[in-house]
Amino acid sequence: LTEPFREALAIIETIEEAGHQAFFVGGCVRDFLLKRPIGDVDITTSAKPFEVQAIFDEVIPVGIQHGTVIVRHRGISYEVTTFRVEGEYSDQRHPDSVQFIDKIDEDLARRDFTINALAMNKHGYIIDLFHGREDIEKALIRAVGNGHDRFQEDPLRILRAIRFSSQLGFQIEENTLKAIMATRQSITGLAVERITVELQKLFAGKDVKTALSYMVELRIDQELPVLKDYHLIAKLVPIIQPLHTLAEVLCLIHQMEPELDIRIIGKEWKCSNKILREAFQLNQAVDYYKANGLDNWLVYQLLPDYYNAFYRITEIMFPTKIDKDELYRLKKQLNLTSKKDLNINGNDIIKLFPAVPKGPWIQDKLVKLERLVVLGELQNNNMILKDWLKWNPPEQK
Ligand code: ATP
Ligand code: MG
Repeated sequence: LTEPFREALAIIETIEEAGHQAFFVGGCVRDFLLKRPIGDVDITTSAKPFEVQAIFDEVIPVGIQHGTVIVRHRGISYEVTTFRVEGEYSDQRHPDSVQFIDKIDEDLARRDFTINALAMNKHGYIIDLFHGREDIEKALIRAVGNGHDRFQEDPLRILRAIRFSSQLGFQIEENTLKAIMATRQSITGLAVERITVELQKLFAGKDVKTALSYMVELRIDQELPVLKDYHLIAKLVPIIQPLHTLAEVLCLIHQMEPELDIRIIGKEWKCSNKILREAFQLNQAVDYYKANGLDNWLVYQLLPDYYNAFYRITEIMFPTKIDKDELYRLKKQLNLTSKKDLNINGNDIIKLFPAVPKGPWIQDKLVKLERLVVLGELQNNNMILKDWLKWNPPEQK
C-alpha cells in the first residue's frame, strides 16, 4: 500500500477488529491505479453508521441518513459510508431513501462508472466486478449497468462523465454516449449547486478541450443555466485551456459574451460573493490590459493572489503571451506598495481648495495621483503632488 492508504489503514483495521468488513473505495482506488495524485481516501463498510460512531472516538455524523460518518484520524477526515443501495431520486438532489446492505456487491453496482466502482482491501487486493481496471487501461468512461437508467436516476452523472473526461483525459464509451444523448434533458431538473461544482471541476481538468467538445457534440450546454442561451462553449473549444477557479470561468465567459454580466452569471450559478469579487477583480484587470497593455498600474491594482488566474485568462484570450515573470518583476519595482504610502491625503487636498465643497472629487483626485505615482509620472513627494493639484484643480460648477 502507498502513502495515503497506509495512513488510513488503521481505520480499516479497527472496523475489521469490530467484526465488520471495510474497503477503500471509488476515486481513490481509481487514482491509485492511474498513478494520479490521490485526493480523499473514502471507505465503504458493512458496519452501520451507529456502529461506526461507536467504534471511533472522533466522529462527525455528517450524513447519517445516507450512511456517511466522517472519522478523524491523525488530523485527516475520512468519509466512512455503509454499504447501501439507493431509492429513487425524485427530487434529483438526494435519493428518496437508502437501504443499508451487508455485501459490497450491490454497493459497487450503484456507483456511476466502472472506473469508480472499484474497492480495495487492506492488502491491496482489488474488487472489480465491472471490469473497471480494463476500462482504466482503455481510458474509457463507461456507466455501470444500463446507462440510460443510471443517467435518468441521477442526471448529475452526465456532467460527472464529462468532468472525468476532462480530469483524466478519457473518452466516453459509445453506449454511454448514446445514453447521455437520450437522457440529457433531465439535467434541467438538477440543483444548480450540484451543476456548478461539476462545471468548476470540468473547466479545471487538463483535458478541458475534449470535455467542451463533448458538451457541444452532446448538446449538454443547451441544458445548462447561462450557457443554454448562447453558443459560447463551441466558441471556447478551439482556445480553451484549464482554468483553476470558477472566478476565471465567469470572467472568461463575460469577456467572450459581454452582454452576459458577471453578476448575472454568478446569480444563475449560485456562486459565492467571494467568487464574484474575484471575478470582478480579474475582469477589471483584463479590461485594463485590453486598453493599456501590461503596466505598473495593472500590476499594482491586481492582488498577487490573482496573477496566475490573470495569466491563464489572457493566455486564452490574446495571441501573444504575457511573460509571467514580468508581472512579478514589475510588482517588485513598484514605487508605491499601497495608497497609504502616498505622500498626500484628503485633508491636504481640502486645505488646498477651501472654497470647493467636499465631495467625491477628493477621492478621484487621490486615485489620479496614486496612478501617476505608480506609473512613475509623478514623484511621491508632498510638494510635487500639491503642485500637480494646483495645475489640475477640481472643476467648479
Ligand atoms: P473526485 O473526488 O476526484 O472528484 P471521486 O470519484 O472520488 O472523484 P466523489 O464525488 O468523491 O468522486 O465520489 C466518490 C465515489 O462515490 C465515486 O468514485 C463513485 O463511486 C461514487 N459516486 C459519487 N457520486 C455519484 C453519483 N452521482 N452516482 C453514483 N455514484 C457516485
Ligand atoms: Mg472523492
